[in-house]
Amino acid sequence: MTRSITSKRLITAAGSYVFASTLIRSYPALASVIWIKDTLFEYQQGWGRTDHIALTFDDGPDPISTPLILNELKRLGVKATFFMLGSMVEAYPYVAQRVVDDGHEVALHGQWHKNHLFRSAKTIRFDMEKALNQLESATGVRPFFFRPPYGVLTEPTLRSAFDLSLRPVLWGAWGRDWRQSASTTQVMIDIKKRFAPGATVLLHDSDCTSSPGSFRATLGALEPLLTLCEQQGCTLGSLKEHGL
Ligand SMILES: [Zn+2]
Repeated sequence: MTRSITSKRLITAAGSYVFASTLIRSYPALASVIWIKDTLFEYQQGWGRTDHIALTFDDGPDPISTPLILNELKRLGVKATFFMLGSMVEAYPYVAQRVVDDGHEVALHGQWHKNHLFRSAKTIRFDMEKALNQLESATGVRPFFFRPPYGVLTEPTLRSAFDLSLRPVLWGAWGRDWRQSASTTQVMIDIKKRFAPGATVLLHDSDCTSSPGSFRATLGALEPLLTLCEQQGCTLGSLKEHGL
């Protein structure tokens, strides 16, 4: 990553924070929480280069499912971004290291999978700092992108992200692959609902916060997703290649 790209990203992240803060001051009802939804903040949904789709995974690293996902990505020749939980990295540092060794991007999901809506500013800051240190010491990589659990961005979340030089990114399309009823077919149907060139796609490489075994639907969806991207004239890759 060049210095200019890093600077551009941080300036953009600063702009996002200022924009959100301005909105909060303008609309006091939003002071406690901001739900990033559809058209509210397109910036936060990670829309990037129109010849590219960003592939992102949340909730790992998991000792069972993450290696299977990594094997499939290697077979397909695709790189992705993994939003890791500090608690999972602490338990399975060797899996986090394999993600890095395979050439994928490490990003931050938080220390624990708890909704920021119900947490104090101090607790949120502690959570994010602890996870950041956890990931950095386990992988040697300092994450740049951040996605809070459940995609809930509160004002303290944004403030902490800005202070820690983290760029919040949610998603534009998701496979809803956490459900007990998730199947590869259904995951692809859900992705296509919001799929467009430049989208950031959310999937999960771990079922630690969802239905046991749901990652198998995710696994099956990777090749059809790659085919869909190619049909749209897009490459499939990580957020750092997404032009954010
Ligand atoms: Zn999650």
